[in-house]
Amino acid sequence: MSKNEALFLRAQKTTPGGVNSPVRAFRQVGGVPRFVKRAQGAYFWDADDKKYIDCIGSWGPMIVGHAHPAVVKAVQDAAVNSFSYGAPTEGEIVMAERICQLVPSIEQVRLVSSGTEATMSALRLARGFTGRDLIIKFEGCYHGHADSLLVKAGSGMLTFADSTQNAPSSGGVPQDLVKHTLVLPYNDVEALELAFKQNAGKIAALIVEPIAGNMNLIQPSATFVKAMRDLTTKEGAVLIYDEVMTGFRVALGGAQSLHGVQPDLTCLGKVMGGGMPMAAFGGRSDIMNKLAPIGNVYQAGTLSGNPLAVAAGLANLDIITQPGFYECLGTQTKKFVNGLAERAKQAGVTFSVDSVGGMFGLYFSEKIPTSYADVTASDIEAFKKFFHLMLDNGVYLAPSAYEAGFISIAHDDAVLAEMFSAAEKSFAALAR
Ligand SMILES: *Cc1c(COP(=O)(O)O)cnc(C)c1O
Repeated sequence: MSKNEALFLRAQKTTPGGVNSPVRAFRQVGGVPRFVKRAQGAYFWDADDKKYIDCIGSWGPMIVGHAHPAVVKAVQDAAVNSFSYGAPTEGEIVMAERICQLVPSIEQVRLVSSGTEATMSALRLARGFTGRDLIIKFEGCYHGHADSLLVKAGSGMLTFADSTQNAPSSGGVPQDLVKHTLVLPYNDVEALELAFKQNAGKIAALIVEPIAGNMNLIQPSATFVKAMRDLTTKEGAVLIYDEVMTGFRVALGGAQSLHGVQPDLTCLGKVMGGGMPMAAFGGRSDIMNKLAPIGNVYQAGTLSGNPLAVAAGLANLDIITQPGFYECLGTQTKKFVNGLAERAKQAGVTFSVDSVGGMFGLYFSEKIPTSYADVTASDIEAFKKFFHLMLDNGVYLAPSAYEAGFISIAHDDAVLAEMFSAAEKSFAALAR
């Protein structure tokens, strides 16, 4: 028995399914999850000391590569001053100032510890601000696991969902909560217009992944982006860009800087903590001023703005704000997906690719998908086989056809060459 197998069996005795977050269990691709021992740059090593090129980067955060010396040093320096105080620190001010400077739609920001907390709090705030209950979300978008957001949700929820119209996609979520959530198809402007027309004066917020990454990578059309901004403005609803994944990932200013859109609220997470538990939500100060302790919308956190997380986040920001960082990251990511597409073509495998900044999508379909329905129609079986072939050849892709992938600045040309050689073998085996 391999060490990974032994650990997986042992884990299942005390942890449900053997993992602390469902996608890690490999349920969608089958097989034994790899238990990670350590990571460096673009690589990690599993319990059996097998080396992998990491294409998920902790699902986004590790944009500067694993164990970057400057980030490690910042955490070490902070750690000797204790881990948490429950009182404010100067580092939190610096973090807030840097976020407001890098993402201009954010006038004020509050730090939290996870993306789930950020979206849950942003929604409560939007409801408190507007005095309305209804929210709009899109099919296949994942916004963390708050109750009212687990309706036709993406990520691990996609392979788990009940197909019944507007049923919660998780047990334990009351129908009473779900009735306040309208779920619409992504990229469907007509459905959006109709929803606003039928619910005039009732919609508190529209929450969206401005570039979706929890149903594989799906980009919005320009008309969809414009309709979301125009309709929410007209109806006095709060436009929430959930940039937990895309913030500091697709560009320094997030997806909103690429779209030229000023959302009312933005959620951040993943990259901003550099791998430490930290996230944030922020936006228009007239909305943010409704938050406790100045407003009546309650939100709090014992570990919010944790000094170690802030230290890691700031050190990470210092690296990603260096000139040329995103040009280089975008170039490497494009080279990677194009190289893969080339090799698929050589092997005669139906395959398409997309990427934005350091985020990519791989699809076993003729065309790049534009909706959740398109993704489900792709060849999921081919993906599963390809995933395991790549894994055997030392490349760790996201263990699900419904997740985007991530490249870090440590994925240099030498690493890409290794990935291409793995892909060549994998596509050839798949074609056989
Ligand atoms: C990951 C993610 C979340 C949830 O963040 P957690 O830190 O896992 O709670 C929310 N929204 C989006 C778009 C995400 O990708």
